[in-house]
Amino acid sequence: MKISRRSIDIAGLRDITQRRIPVLVADSHEPGPVVCLTACIHGDEVGGTAIVHDVFARFRRNGLQRGKVYAYPLVNSLGFENVSRFITADREDLNRCFPGDAVGSMGQQIARRLFDAIVKAGPDLVIDLHNDWIRSVPYVLIDPPQEFPNRKLYRQVLNIARATGLLLVEDSDVFHPLANTLAGALTGAGLAALTIEAGGSFAVVEDGVAAGTRAVLSALATLDMIAATDDEIAAGSRGAPLRYTDHPLCTTSGLLRFAVEPGQAIKAGQLLATVYSAFGSTEEKLRAVAPGFILGLEDHARALPGRAVIAVAESS
Ligand SMILES: [Zn+2]
Repeated sequence: MKISRRSIDIAGLRDITQRRIPVLVADSHEPGPVVCLTACIHGDEVGGTAIVHDVFARFRRNGLQRGKVYAYPLVNSLGFENVSRFITADREDLNRCFPGDAVGSMGQQIARRLFDAIVKAGPDLVIDLHNDWIRSVPYVLIDPPQEFPNRKLYRQVLNIARATGLLLVEDSDVFHPLANTLAGALTGAGLAALTIEAGGSFAVVEDGVAAGTRAVLSALATLDMIAATDDEIAAGSRGAPLRYTDHPLCTTSGLLRFAVEPGQAIKAGQLLATVYSAFGSTEEKLRAVAPGFILGLEDHARALPGRAVIAVAESS
């Protein structure tokens, strides 16, 4: 097994510096699956970078049995340096730019370079590593069945997602148009892709990194690429995916106080949060639309009409 470093040129800047996406490659020199790991597409979501580091440290210690792993540990270095979700030069959300455009906007050009590099690697699986609100639990997000070009690919992604042992959530295009995310564009191109949200953004949250690393190692073990011990990998899950929603949205403005915690099971109609006026009177009570689990809570206390402040995985 050999680990090598390379880079993808992405953007020539005005000061004639060239920006690059760093690439780590672990090559077992044995035939087998190809897996790609992408991290920090949103520049303030840094936990995925640490997950890549920990997964590669594990390769150095224990090797890779077969196949190859390509990792892109810091996709959005421009956002990372500015502690911003966006490509800060033009405030674009890179994860809404895929599959990209070689002559499009800066975000679209960067997306195209990365997308082409991933497709050229010929991956059997792509795991895109993200982080969520500061107060959030790790979960794995897959596209809904209708987004897949065929049933076989959906089953393949569902099996890997279950193997991660994380709370399994299906994205809902009712609330979040999936078009132009990396995972969505790869799915559209007939490739197996899923997204892991590994706890809070901004700082490296170690329990989120541990959960994400375990999830990635579990996926690699499922593909027989590593020989993992039971304590390194997840036990896996079986049930149907839960459904992502950010409802109820706020309809008033004011100070937001939550009545629930991330990871908590909730019932339909349960009080989730209350919005107060500056004088302390109740403006609004947000109640659960359906039973499920709290995935995450907004980082700020500011409620505004139409604003999503809570992420819920609905079980019905
Ligand atoms: Zn993200």
